[in-house]
Amino acid sequence: MTAVLVAEEIWERAMGQIAERVGERLYELWFKPMKLVHLKDQAALVEIPNRFFREWVEDNYPTVISDVLGALVGSPVSVKYKVLEKEDAALRRLDSKHETRKNRLASRGIYLSPKYTFDSFVVGPSNQFVHAAAKRVAESPGVTYNPLFIYGGVGLGKTHLINAIGNRIIDRHPESNVYYVSAERFTNEVVSAIRHAKMDEFKEKYRNLDVLLVDDIQFIAGKTTTQEEFFHTFNALYERQRQIIITSDRAPLEISDITDRLRSRFSMGLIADIEPPEVETKVAILHKKAALEKMSVPDDVAYFVASKVKSNIRELEGCLIKLGAHASLTGEGVSLEMAKTVLRDLIAEEDKPVTAESVQKAVCEYFGVKLQDLRSRKRTRELATARQMAMYLCKQLTGLSLAEIGTALGGKDHATVIYACKQVESRREKEDLLNRAIENLLRKLNSA
Ligand code: ADP
Ligand code: MG
Repeated sequence: MTAVLVAEEIWERAMGQIAERVGERLYELWFKPMKLVHLKDQAALVEIPNRFFREWVEDNYPTVISDVLGALVGSPVSVKYKVLEKEDAALRRLDSKHETRKNRLASRGIYLSPKYTFDSFVVGPSNQFVHAAAKRVAESPGVTYNPLFIYGGVGLGKTHLINAIGNRIIDRHPESNVYYVSAERFTNEVVSAIRHAKMDEFKEKYRNLDVLLVDDIQFIAGKTTTQEEFFHTFNALYERQRQIIITSDRAPLEISDITDRLRSRFSMGLIADIEPPEVETKVAILHKKAALEKMSVPDDVAYFVASKVKSNIRELEGCLIKLGAHASLTGEGVSLEMAKTVLRDLIAEEDKPVTAESVQKAVCEYFGVKLQDLRSRKRTRELATARQMAMYLCKQLTGLSLAEIGTALGGKDHATVIYACKQVESRREKEDLLNRAIENLLRKLNSA
């Protein structure tokens, strides 16, 4: 028989495991200051210094504490936080308003995030067009652009915007049948409907929607059955002039491994892209977010952070949360000096040069190929293109010699690398698609 562990012991073990999972540095910073208040009836109450801790953990490791505790206890454990610092009343009211809305929508099977609204979205030159299109669609769903296809890089606000559309439609037409789903979840629903012979239910659910919002559609690339179901769902809704909104990390033309008929559906309405934000937009986002958190961030700090974080707005917010957590732990105001210390990892990251390794990883991810195959001698068309692209990007970004690039790519000689670079250069001029893929990758690697 195993001894019954007391709550403190469980907590201690849990913390040990979390340290292993997230690494010592993050553990020290974010988890160590937490304390267990109690653990009973499959619920843990955890004390944290201030709201930034909760935000950080919920953004970065939303399930780690409950996972680890659950495994130790042997049954699911729900985790709630108790914020030690006296919380601003207005902030608490906003939180609880969001919570109420979230629960109310969830009870109807709508999983929209209440904080992602048009009001909290900052508009600048990089997203002006897509913002206007999103608003238009939210005002008159099914009438103007159908589908609305939004694409752009990671952390540029796609999920925020698609939620904002859903939230606005619900506000204006509370009864309307809105459904927000990630393409990953859609795929799981298809799989589960097939497995449990519930395809009729699935169809019934989807085809009766007024508005369908699908996030990260690139996920269905290569999944034929899901694509087939999505195609029929799309048609059924489209014919009845129901609004469809889709987001993706790349343009329809760039999604490889989807059927042409689906690709052409994606292009039937309006395609709008979100560009990486300019520095001024990043500063405005920081100020907006800071105001929401009742933080005061001096301009020089905002510019400093905005110029260090290349494009990913989630990272931008991550910096702010870190600063907020630090400021409220130490009781100091946010200053440039503090920002330089607290965010030093970020600065170090930025100065790290791009490596052959990171180029190859990005290329593999983009083309959906394995690193091992990229470095092999296999010559499918896709692999050959990916490999040449990797060589070209290494030459552009890493400062390695041609021979070194060849070696990094699984022992090719330097003539192969020269040939690859020439190939890519000449294809870039002729092939818009390839050119865009390269620009995407360059942007991604430069901002990594
Ligand atoms: P994506 O889905 O494109 O990867 P998200 O929509 O998840 O990106 O955005 C990442 C974070 O950045 C979110 O917290 C979101 O609220 C914030 N964000 C992105 N764009 C803006 C914007 N224009 N104004 C305010 N916040 C933004
Ligand atoms: Mg997203």
